[in-house]
Amino acid sequence: TTDAPADASLPAIRLRSLRKTFGEVVAVDSVDLDIADGEFLTLLGPSGSGKTTVLRMIAGFELPTAGTVELAGVDVTQKAPFDRDVNTVFQDYALFPHMSVQENVEYGLKVKKVPKAERRQRAEEALASVRLEGYGDRKPTAMSGGQRQRVALARALVNRPKVLLLDEPLGALDLKLREEMQVELKAIQREVGITFVFVTHDQEEALTMSDRIAVFNNGGIEQIGTPAEVYEHPATEFVAGFVGTSNLLRGEASRAVLGHDGVFSVRPEKIRVAEPGAVAGEGEDSALGRVREVVYVGSGTRYVVDLEVGGSLVALEQNQRSTSMDVMGMRGRQVRLVWRKEHEYRVG
Ligand code: ATP
Repeated sequence: TTDAPADASLPAIRLRSLRKTFGEVVAVDSVDLDIADGEFLTLLGPSGSGKTTVLRMIAGFELPTAGTVELAGVDVTQKAPFDRDVNTVFQDYALFPHMSVQENVEYGLKVKKVPKAERRQRAEEALASVRLEGYGDRKPTAMSGGQRQRVALARALVNRPKVLLLDEPLGALDLKLREEMQVELKAIQREVGITFVFVTHDQEEALTMSDRIAVFNNGGIEQIGTPAEVYEHPATEFVAGFVGTSNLLRGEASRAVLGHDGVFSVRPEKIRVAEPGAVAGEGEDSALGRVREVVYVGSGTRYVVDLEVGGSLVALEQNQRSTSMDVMGMRGRQVRLVWRKEHEYRVG
């Protein structure tokens, strides 16, 4: 079959009722997902939640037990990896150590018998797009982790795929380099305009880079939305806890403090630490408690407060009370935590 003409209104990737079992293990369970053309979508979840298996089914390395994978409207479920307009960047880069950077990047084109002059030119463009112009003659072994990571990216981009799949590509880098590459990778994606599907278990990374995040748990998607939606309006207890500090009020605490039954989450940044005698204003809720822990975290101060009604909440205050003397004096003191009602989200 030949590919249908590209239709810009179609999602770049469409997964329908996707399922994968390995013997008794259900790795992926009825996943439905549309990924838009040019979108940066992250699959976020704990180890074993099924992210990599979904990515491998999009790439064609794994055949679904049930369901379909469409790329730009074409059903590719049964197609081999090389018959799909996608490329994958793995965590270990898999660069050829004996080849120069230029040869590494050209390799895929050579296999496809692209003429030498065109190969050279496209490899140079790909290296420029990852800000490695002039590095063509180096060996990967003479480069830093971040540079090697960018060579791996150039090697994928040189094929000009519609979709790039990235499986924890920054996992091997130290924290500082990782943070730099997060910004860099996002900028590169915006410039080249390719659809990125990015797998990570790191919530900070997902929040920093993504247009949308699909939060995985037990082989399924718990919630999908923009970073702000997922962070500020967690749909389930799992999402509240996995993306940020869950800060739950439940049972007697939610009845006494909020006046409702159910489980609610309030993000630490939304909570103010006040004197015990403070009165909650219009549209606010509050709870009395005792400070168990105070930690100065540079950008602010983090309090862990045990509530009188049971349970505890974390409050994160931006630098108002930031001298370490004051902070230490807060431990063991009674306080009133105050927040606006609109920052309470029902998660169960
Ligand atoms: P990680 O972040 O650790 O890579 P993940 O979210 O990507 O985790 P998967 O690798 O997709 O999770 O695994 C999902 C489930 O499927 C796990 O229980 C895993 O053990 C199982 N699994 C994955 N691949 C195979 C396989 N080839 N054979 C048997 N079980 C597998």
